[in-house]
Amino acid sequence: MQRDEQIFDLIQAEKERQIHGLELIASENFVSEQVMEAAGSVLTNKYAEGYPGKRYYGGCEVVDEVETIAIERAKELFGAAWVNVQPHSGSQANTAVYAACLKPGDKILGFDLSHGGHLTHGSPVNFSGKLYQPVFYGVEKETGVLNYDKIEEIAEKEQPKMIIAGASAYSRDINFKRFREIADKVGALLMADISHPAGLIAKGVLSDPIPHCHIVTTTTHKTLRGPRGGMIMMGKDFENPFGITLKSGKPRMMSSLLDSAVFPGNQGGPLEHIIAAKAIAFGEALTDEFLHYIIQVRKNAQAMAKAFVARGYDLISGGTDNHLMLIDLRNKEVTGKQTEEALEEAGITVNKNMVPFDDKSPFVTSGIRIGTAAITTRGLKEEDMETVVALIDEVVNNIENTSILEAVKAKVNDLMKNYPLFQA
Ligand code: PLP
Repeated sequence: MQRDEQIFDLIQAEKERQIHGLELIASENFVSEQVMEAAGSVLTNKYAEGYPGKRYYGGCEVVDEVETIAIERAKELFGAAWVNVQPHSGSQANTAVYAACLKPGDKILGFDLSHGGHLTHGSPVNFSGKLYQPVFYGVEKETGVLNYDKIEEIAEKEQPKMIIAGASAYSRDINFKRFREIADKVGALLMADISHPAGLIAKGVLSDPIPHCHIVTTTTHKTLRGPRGGMIMMGKDFENPFGITLKSGKPRMMSSLLDSAVFPGNQGGPLEHIIAAKAIAFGEALTDEFLHYIIQVRKNAQAMAKAFVARGYDLISGGTDNHLMLIDLRNKEVTGKQTEEALEEAGITVNKNMVPFDDKSPFVTSGIRIGTAAITTRGLKEEDMETVVALIDEVVNNIENTSILEAVKAKVNDLMKNYPLFQA
């Protein structure tokens, strides 16, 4: 077979873009060479419907070992009693949890997308808002932070079957203990979606949801620095509260319902090459080196937030406890869309983002979201954050000046030369 130069040329172009650019998308990261190697390995050839030891295909003895190692490492990393590593993505992890715990039309209480939540937490354009009945909580207009007493009031009024704690664009720690009190008060199940801060939670620098939430979902590719994928965990297995029984008449455990909701409920064959890459990433995340990385991610985010505030930028909630920040650009008289496009011309990648109480559409937006997970992997430190913020500020202040954008791009490329991404 001839090598497909058309696609490999494009892969090379993407590699160059990653090498030379400044990657500030809060949901992205750079995996290690060994994670990439596993993701591109012969395991992609293997069908393995089912779970280790209980497959619907022969020849699974090797992938059974791989998947078991991934599960055991994830349990150790998060202190979980049960883990399913098969969801192909964060969205599919959430889909499976809802399928196991809810009936169509049931009410769910999630974080409003325009305040920092995720599409799968009940947005009307997503299955979660079409199949279930969503109600939302949001942040306070004055402070930009969650008000748990208000969330409690909404929960008491709405009586949801499930409460979802977690976000895509919230820069503050989440009080899962308080969320559980609210859930218990109204008899709801509590799911935490820790897709964004998973790496920080795993290393204990943010509040731990595992002791408080019935079920926890995450992606594996953001601060956890693994391959693209999802995962479901429980701190403690429990009898399902829906009256679903085994043939023996005993209640089915929640772990069994969740496993069935992933496969065969929502997916077919698991991606064993990705599960191998997840196992490697979890092994990396168990090390002290990863702890130092995570501490640096947060130091960088806090240094960056401080530098933005010093230049008159309006950060939602005024700062950050994690790896990201959400910036309201309305006082700079530019939109999120304009800023994202101009930054891209300057070799800086961010995403436009709605800010709480935004008056612009999701295609335009008033804000941008910025994260430090990827640049920290490249080795940038607090001292570099002032430089990065100065480059962004130059773009925002000269949004239509192509020669300035080009000059910033040259500075970005120079800066990134100091932080090699791939081994030569
Ligand atoms: N949940 C949250 C909080 C997220 O931020 C994301 C991704 O951005 C997801 C779920 C979905 O993950 P995926 O893109 O893998 O479906």
